[in-house]
Amino acid sequence: PFDVLIVGGGPAGAAAAVYAARKGIRTGVVAERFGGQVLDTLAIENFVSVLATEGPQFAAALEQHTKHYDVDIMNLQRADKLVAGGDLIEVHTEGGGVLKSKSVILSTGARWREVNVPGEKQYRNAGVAYCPHCDGPLFKGKKVAVIGGGNSGVEAAIDLAGIVEHVTLFEFADQLRADAVLVKKLRSLPNVVIHTNAQTTEITGDGSKVNGITWTDRVSGTSTQTALEGVFVQIGLVPNTEWLKGTVELSRHGEIVVDAKGATSIPGVFAAGDVTTVPYKQIIIAAGDGAKAALGAFDHLIRTSVP
Ligand code: FAD
Repeated sequence: PFDVLIVGGGPAGAAAAVYAARKGIRTGVVAERFGGQVLDTLAIENFVSVLATEGPQFAAALEQHTKHYDVDIMNLQRADKLVAGGDLIEVHTEGGGVLKSKSVILSTGARWREVNVPGEKQYRNAGVAYCPHCDGPLFKGKKVAVIGGGNSGVEAAIDLAGIVEHVTLFEFADQLRADAVLVKKLRSLPNVVIHTNAQTTEITGDGSKVNGITWTDRVSGTSTQTALEGVFVQIGLVPNTEWLKGTVELSRHGEIVVDAKGATSIPGVFAAGDVTTVPYKQIIIAAGDGAKAALGAFDHLIRTSVP
């Protein structure tokens, strides 16, 4: 059996693997796609000490660093069940395999909810963005849209308004759903326009990058084309925890509830990164939490297992 089995190979899982392996304990990583969301990222400019890099390059560096140690990487394998309660914790994979370990770190990440309109996929990373902390500065001096009027959409619009020239926020419902204090702040900004009852129907582009958004006023039925260079989709981040329902405690948003050491509700099961209740989903935060969860797991092992 493994001493530490990590499920997920993004920044959180890779950092956990490096920290665990450096303790000289038997470490494995099972990942559907080693690298995680970073593989879908273009520019990364906020991982301190790395001025600028690109997603695939960062993902390759994660893998290289992990492979430098004695880590058993099982890539392209999807976990579909966690079984705890016996002597060892089991992780079942879709192919029918059963991996056993004394401790487990869950780091299966999250995915952005998409609006599913024409142009969204085509212009992803070419004007369509999901993370204002990451990509906001790329739109300095430009006009952008934010789709979504919940807390994350309104926070994104306030954040972007300080960087870009102009922000248009589109909310499908008849009113914004963010906290009143945020809505008040947003309405006070001179370079923000808010459209409620607005359904985005298409993200348009010139073939290589975004040049506008087409939307319908759900009350009047009129369709409008608004010219702009960026679209931030802010309609939710979905944690990859469907396979964990009924095992570890999840928040009402489906995130794994963790304590300060990354421990979950099940002894010996830890979690890290975007899949957890940690606020602010970022690479540097996921990596830090991966390290923390590995140290938490090691701490658990030295207290519970006989060498
Ligand atoms: P993830 O990166 O999501 O990795 C999850 C891992 O788990 C993957 O290996 C996945 O294949 C695997 N997995 C999922 N389900 C299963 C399963 N059932 N069985 C086995 N494996 C599974 N952050 C920044 O700090 N700076 C940026 O510039 C930046 N830009 C971004 C741009 C884009 C387009 C996106 C989508 C995100 C960006 N982020 C950025 C956010 C950042 O990528 C995430 O915060 C970070 O990757 C989270 O790391 P993680 O390890 O928790 O999860």
